[in-house]
Amino acid sequence: MTALGRAPERILLGPGPSMLPPSVRLSLATPLVGHMDPTLFPILEDISARLRETFQTSNELTLAVSGTGTAGMEACVGHVLTSGDRIVVAAAGYFAQRIAALARRAGADVTVIDAPWGQAVDPRDVARELDRAPARAVAAVHVETSTGVVQPLADVARIAHDHDAVMLVDAVASLGGVDLPVDRWGIDVCYAGTQKCLSAPPGMAPVTIGRSARGRSREGGSFYLDLELLWRYWASPHTYHHTIPVPLVYALHEALRLVGEEGLSVRFERHRRNAEALWAGLEAMGLVLLVSSDLRAPSVTTVTVPDGIDEAKIRGRLLAEHDIEIAGGLGPLKGHIWRIGLMGYSSQPRYVRLLLAALEAILSDEGFRSPRGAAVDAAEPLLAGPTTEARDPMRP
Ligand code: PLP
Repeated sequence: MTALGRAPERILLGPGPSMLPPSVRLSLATPLVGHMDPTLFPILEDISARLRETFQTSNELTLAVSGTGTAGMEACVGHVLTSGDRIVVAAAGYFAQRIAALARRAGADVTVIDAPWGQAVDPRDVARELDRAPARAVAAVHVETSTGVVQPLADVARIAHDHDAVMLVDAVASLGGVDLPVDRWGIDVCYAGTQKCLSAPPGMAPVTIGRSARGRSREGGSFYLDLELLWRYWASPHTYHHTIPVPLVYALHEALRLVGEEGLSVRFERHRRNAEALWAGLEAMGLVLLVSSDLRAPSVTTVTVPDGIDEAKIRGRLLAEHDIEIAGGLGPLKGHIWRIGLMGYSSQPRYVRLLLAALEAILSDEGFRSPRGAAVDAAEPLLAGPTTEARDPMRP
């Protein structure tokens, strides 16, 4: 038995992976070529160029690591830190804690600023830590997927530079969906994932490294994730490093082509408008959002589970009865929130309507009373607009 023809067609509205656009899905069936095939190298170079546009950077070293977002995280942490270096991690959730854990494994001296989950880290706390002792790097997560918070970054990066520290940012849940001007904000090192706002399959991690953070010897670190060695494969002279997963390269290339065709600002606006419609619908249902409106991420929405409602049961019913995937909470928020992703190709009005209607029906069946039809009614005016529908390149 194989998965072919048997895997269900899910509507992916969790915090990643997101739905694949039809042309990205088709690109996975492109004939396989070898990792040293001369036709592959122009594609790698074009991916680098398109990633620079998406990261809004002129950094030369811009590529996609083979591996998911965590591989990007590990490559960047390993690139910036050697044993004994100090890093200050601005943490307010699960994925910032993961950066701290990887830095500890790299032998770094790690200071974690622990802000409450559901809030952002105060840049003044970062300044205080750097005044206390110098650090090689400051790390932060742009969209903390465990809480649905957008961390304001420009001030944190400025403070890091004022203290001669490198600014390292996790953009796994934001690249291609939430504005992140890497150069303008002074971000030196940034990594992302492919399976969220870019809507490519999981398995590659875009990374960009500024000039100030380049050139450190990685003799003691990972070979597989050595970004300077990888760059010699991605750019001329294209020296063999490892067997790159070619189908994922094709899929990422097509996903980035779609990003370019839509345009970054239109894409950010689409993510924001669909998210605002979702928020209006959820609140009209009587549900409470975890994050205050000024810090809410357009890509990930976190909803407090009402008293008396079984968090996992609602998710299970959405999947079983409507083929809709959403996620539960992580760490201290487990059992207390739902996490809804409107990312990339999943950020579309039809999915907002479907989810609101399905959630309302199931919650009502489980005893949570809300005015019937109020959710979709509240969302609808916000969904009407020219930029809310992700273009389907397979349909004229
Ligand atoms: N960082 C953030 C903000 C994430 O949301 C995730 C995954 O959800 C990761 C890192 C880890 O990425 P992956 O699961 O692709 O390894």
